[in-house]
Amino acid sequence: MQSLDIAVVGTGTAGSASALFLARAGHRVTVYERVLDPQPVGAGIMLQPTGMAVLAALGLVNEVVARGEPLTHLVAQTPSGRSVLDLAYADLAPDLYGVGLHRGVLFASLFKAVQSEPRVTLKLGLDIEDFTIDAAGHWLVEKGTRRRFGPHDLVIVCNGARSSLRDDTSHHKIVRRYPWGALWAVVPDVEHRYRERLFQVVRGTRVLIGMLPSGLGPTGTTPQVSLFYSLRADRLDEHRASDFGRWKESVLADAPAAAPVLEHLRSHDDLLFSEYHDVVMWPWNVGRVVYLGDSAHAMSPQLGQGANLALVDAAMLAQAFENTETVDDALFRYSRTRRGHLAWYQFVTRWLTPFFQSDLPPLAVARDLLFGTACKVPLFRSEMVAMMAGISLGPFRRMGLSSRPPPLLPTR
Ligand SMILES: Cc1cc2nc3c(=O)[nH]c(=O)nc-3n(C[C@H](O)[C@H](O)[C@H](O)COP(=O)(O)OP(=O)(O)OC[C@H]3O[C@@H](n4cnc5c(N)ncnc54)[C@H](O)[C@@H]3O)c2cc1C
Repeated sequence: MQSLDIAVVGTGTAGSASALFLARAGHRVTVYERVLDPQPVGAGIMLQPTGMAVLAALGLVNEVVARGEPLTHLVAQTPSGRSVLDLAYADLAPDLYGVGLHRGVLFASLFKAVQSEPRVTLKLGLDIEDFTIDAAGHWLVEKGTRRRFGPHDLVIVCNGARSSLRDDTSHHKIVRRYPWGALWAVVPDVEHRYRERLFQVVRGTRVLIGMLPSGLGPTGTTPQVSLFYSLRADRLDEHRASDFGRWKESVLADAPAAAPVLEHLRSHDDLLFSEYHDVVMWPWNVGRVVYLGDSAHAMSPQLGQGANLALVDAAMLAQAFENTETVDDALFRYSRTRRGHLAWYQFVTRWLTPFFQSDLPPLAVARDLLFGTACKVPLFRSEMVAMMAGISLGPFRRMGLSSRPPPLLPTR
């Protein structure tokens, strides 16, 4: 295929990674980002072996993993200590692991690479609200001023779960807000108490407290840990009006392991709230506009896959353009090859989320009885670990990894 002029909207995970892949394949890429001076913000995310394989292809995996915290296990238990989930990456392969990572580390690494990529032009501070098409190609339209940018041969929409660029297309899609979200905070873990595992405490389906070791962050030298606390979005105001000390006591009663984190929290203002979205569409392109990452398939973070799926999207879109003659063929190929993996993760996420965050307490009884037992049965356990690692394609079907996670240094 001849070199294309490509527009990417958003310089988050999906946008930066796809800009890098396509520029390195010889295309000219312009990235449009709403924020004038993007910063490495956010909380802890999980980097899975799938995401690491994509970062390896971009030459970024070592610098990202070096600032994260290697995770060998995912553990969930009830306040009484009953095991609900206990999954180890090593059950799949001895060299596999996950990484707890401050989102800013991934952002900063990808953004720096985009900034130094000669075939990428960055246009910052442009809030794109629409696109138009004429004989010359696709034009992006800025919010407010209605200034047009382009023309481009292809538009890749990577502007996150709340994208408004989906709204006017006739394309069949579902965009929903989950009733539940989470309060979160990232605090220093000077004594490096939190390591090796994502640790969650669940009580019923209404209390979920998570502690994710999050590595060193974008610039620091002190380990960090992210605290997550499940909350219904419509109870946020009521929660913030309630007594903060009482809330800390209740967290401590359910999860004594959270004590060192709670010491850093002085008021409700120290926690931010994130809501979750569920976005379903297929195919992922409308003509020559293709949707990647959360704009295409946001889901609840129950399986810890958001950033990883966005990275895999970017790699697979670039692959779809290799040895394909036309843009239309490449986009058709992309939607077809990406479907199995994404549809499976969306299905399982939707199925699993009410067991951990819902107003259906009987599900917790089933969860506490069944999940812990399933983790002990080797057949189910390895399926659950494959799901956690991001490589599951359905029951007993897995994708291969183009690259293994880098070997861990003996000191870690
Ligand atoms: C500020 C921020 C903080 C986050 N924090 C967390 C976190 O703590 N934990 C977690 O699990 N996930 C977090 N996420 C989401 C996580 O990064 C994504 O789920 C995942 O990486 C998939 O990335 P994405 O590229 O699809 O979307 P995102 O990472 O959301 O990136 C979208 C990008 O598009 C830009 N954008 C949005 N609208 C427009 C527009 N109209 N015109 C131009 N640009 C636009 C945004 O500024 C952003 O840079 C955060 C996302 C953002 C943007």
